[in-house]
Amino acid sequence: MEELLNYLHLQAKAVPISGGDINQAYRVTDGEKDYFLKYHPQMSADFFQAEVDGLAELKNAVRVPKTYQHGSFKDTAFLLMEWIEPGEGNQKDLAHELSKLHKINALKFGYKRNNFMGLLPQVNQKSDDWWEFYFTNRLEVQIKIAKGRNRWTIEREKEYSLFKDRVYQKWGTMSFEPTLLHGDFWSGNTFFDTQGQPVFVDPAVSYGHREVDIAMSQLFGGFRQEFLDSYQEILPMQSGWQDRLTIYQLYYLLVHLNIFGESYGDSVDRVLALGGK
Ligand code: ADP
Repeated sequence: MEELLNYLHLQAKAVPISGGDINQAYRVTDGEKDYFLKYHPQMSADFFQAEVDGLAELKNAVRVPKTYQHGSFKDTAFLLMEWIEPGEGNQKDLAHELSKLHKINALKFGYKRNNFMGLLPQVNQKSDDWWEFYFTNRLEVQIKIAKGRNRWTIEREKEYSLFKDRVYQKWGTMSFEPTLLHGDFWSGNTFFDTQGQPVFVDPAVSYGHREVDIAMSQLFGGFRQEFLDSYQEILPMQSGWQDRLTIYQLYYLLVHLNIFGESYGDSVDRVLALGGK
């Protein structure tokens, strides 16, 4: 840390920032201006390049921190960003800002590059077919990782096959539009600036079905009912959206199974058994 700060001609301002799961994050200063510095040892520079690209994509619609410098120094990847002083805001404005992202369309599902979900790979091969994209690029990439980590049982494989059939049977003919997604929309990845404007950080962007962001927002708490009600008012979701949330939550639960282990196994099994019904 000390060496990296010297290299960047910065000083640490205070204690580490809590809230992030993945990287070390600090408020730092050059004596005049404050910055937000994230770094990760033993990580390629592409890791933060993906974040810079994602923030640039979101910037067209919502407030994100400016990115100043990124790269790697002695095997440590780093990203230096604008420090945004946190303040108070309301759930209605947050819903409004999220809906702005979800109004940006693309021709296909996917994204121009692969990126990361936490430290895990997120594959974004473009596709015209939402379910093909979601099963192949999202669920099955994580299932492959789970197999490699001995977290995927025969039982889970069977349940997954039933789950997939069910989703195709029930929702296979419904059509969805590819829209810009934050991609990791939990409460730790959004806050308000001192003017009350929502700020979006740490994205895992792609173009997909917008209910994926809504599903993530409802998985671990932190968003109030007012958020959901306002979103529904501003940009109503297609019928059956409540029944599709668990389908999309499965992706994030698999990611958690892969990162944190079997403590997420029961939730994965529950969603595999019920998802899409
Ligand atoms: P990680 O990649 O480790 O998850 P995040 O980018 O999510 O780290 O940042 C961790 C926390 O720091 C966030 O939850 C947010 O509260 C705060 N934060 C993120 N970016 C900024 C910023 N530019 N200015 C001020 N605080 C920030």
